[in-house]
Amino acid sequence: MGTPVLDQLRAALGDRVDTAAATLDAARADRSGHGAAEPPLAVVHAESVADVQAALRIAHETATPVVVRGAGTGLAGASIAGAGEIVLSTLRMRRVLEVRPDDLLAVVEPGILNAELDEVLAPYGLWWPPDPASRDISTVGGNIATGAGGLLCAKYGVVRDAVLAVDLVLADGRLLHLGHRSVKGVTGLDLTSLVIGSEGRLGVIVGATLKLRRIEPGTPCTIVATFPTVRDAARGSAAVTASGAQPAIMELMDARCLAAVHALLELDPPAEGIAQLTIQTDGLSAAVEAEQIAAVLRQAGGAVAVTDDPAEGEELLRIRRSMHAAMARLGTTLIEDVSVPRSALPAMFDEIARIERAYGIEIPTVAHAGDGNLHPNFIVQTAEIPERIWQAADELFRAALCLGGTLTGEHGIGTLKSRWLADELGEDQWTLQREIVRVFDPRGILAPGRVFAQRPSAPSDPHDADPHPAEEPHA
Ligand SMILES: Cc1cc2nc3c(=O)[nH]c(=O)nc-3n(C[C@H](O)[C@H](O)[C@H](O)COP(=O)(O)OP(=O)(O)OC[C@H]3O[C@@H](n4cnc5c(N)ncnc54)[C@H](O)[C@@H]3O)c2cc1C
Repeated sequence: MGTPVLDQLRAALGDRVDTAAATLDAARADRSGHGAAEPPLAVVHAESVADVQAALRIAHETATPVVVRGAGTGLAGASIAGAGEIVLSTLRMRRVLEVRPDDLLAVVEPGILNAELDEVLAPYGLWWPPDPASRDISTVGGNIATGAGGLLCAKYGVVRDAVLAVDLVLADGRLLHLGHRSVKGVTGLDLTSLVIGSEGRLGVIVGATLKLRRIEPGTPCTIVATFPTVRDAARGSAAVTASGAQPAIMELMDARCLAAVHALLELDPPAEGIAQLTIQTDGLSAAVEAEQIAAVLRQAGGAVAVTDDPAEGEELLRIRRSMHAAMARLGTTLIEDVSVPRSALPAMFDEIARIERAYGIEIPTVAHAGDGNLHPNFIVQTAEIPERIWQAADELFRAALCLGGTLTGEHGIGTLKSRWLADELGEDQWTLQREIVRVFDPRGILAPGRVFAQRPSAPSDPHDADPHPAEEPHA
């Protein structure tokens, strides 16, 4: 026996409507470590734009909440779906519809994985720059919906810099073509930008026209610099930025992170207490630039090694890319994502040390030091994140804001950070953004309660109700 909405979905979409227990259970969680207490109603595996439109028309008519899902690798709890909700999965929509080397663009469906896309583009000598550490497992649609960043952002930008156009299905099933195929285009309001980072609240991304680059010529050089303290490493990275050098990658790992990854990968333990910068230069002047950066780092007190061996370079970056798995082994992890102006990195590490002392906790931290985005990790041995840890996270957010930074550099607000959103935006902007969501989705069926959480001071609004009142950590 199905509910009326399930019956309608099955009539329209047949076996693309999946109610298998294992499928529903998987949709209760993302990779934040959190999950809904109860499973959603169904997962709709959309295979075409028409499938997405059909599912949304039914959801709209029946006022059923819909949570869009790519690969579910998000770290902000945005794609967690619970009781009474339909999950609309775009994972089966993974075709590359067009590659235009002459125009440096590709048109893709949203479910293609980031790394899969680059495999398709490589024979053309092209690549799509957004490079989240999850590039092997996350979708392009999810990357756009979260406004993802990654390791290469300081030089090659974030997703926002690499999308020309988006096809969006609105909550009522209408299809919009936003943006343009030309390099320039300023007709009307920039709704493409609005959709980037909208975390499934404005519509379902069913296609994207992506801005490509030619693969950089030359051999990349990789630099490893170790420092006695994390503050010294942060000062080293700030000195590199201030020197005018433009590395493709500049990643910082503190001693706790470095030790955890070495243990995970069964490498020799690093020297006690050291923090590490891993930097990569690319392009035809990679070697010259690497030597210039090495000189800056030595001047800043680092012990520096440089290699132009691609395999060695890749192995060094693997250490950084294994961070998430290394932290997950240590306990229940709350991965934070604050971002500050690059010159403020040393001060932000001072703030982290202050919060560690104040709360008697350790906060292992990695940073995309090239762009000022830090991932402090709160790790607890309980299944749930205790309120005291949320208080420490609260101090962390406020410290980042005081330094001219932001609550989230790349992971998004989702459910986990919604209670702080108004603090950063201010009352007027929070209200304006909420009203914009209502214009796109007047019935409030898309991801209700995510991003814009109900605030205690505001009049009650069912669109903003907590989607997972009994939210619980997920194994
Ligand atoms: C090991 C690991 C490393 C990571 N490293 C990085 C990193 O370096 N940089 C970074 O930015 N993130 C990183 N992430 C987080 C995550 O991979 C990104 O947020 C990614 O963009 C999510 O893509 P997804 O396909 O998994 O989306 P999901 O998790 O399925 O969804 C994320 C959000 O996007 C929405 N969404 C998904 N698809 C669509 C669509 N077609 N239309 C509308 N909305 C949609 C969902 O509703 C949700 O709000 C990492 C995660 C892991 C597990």
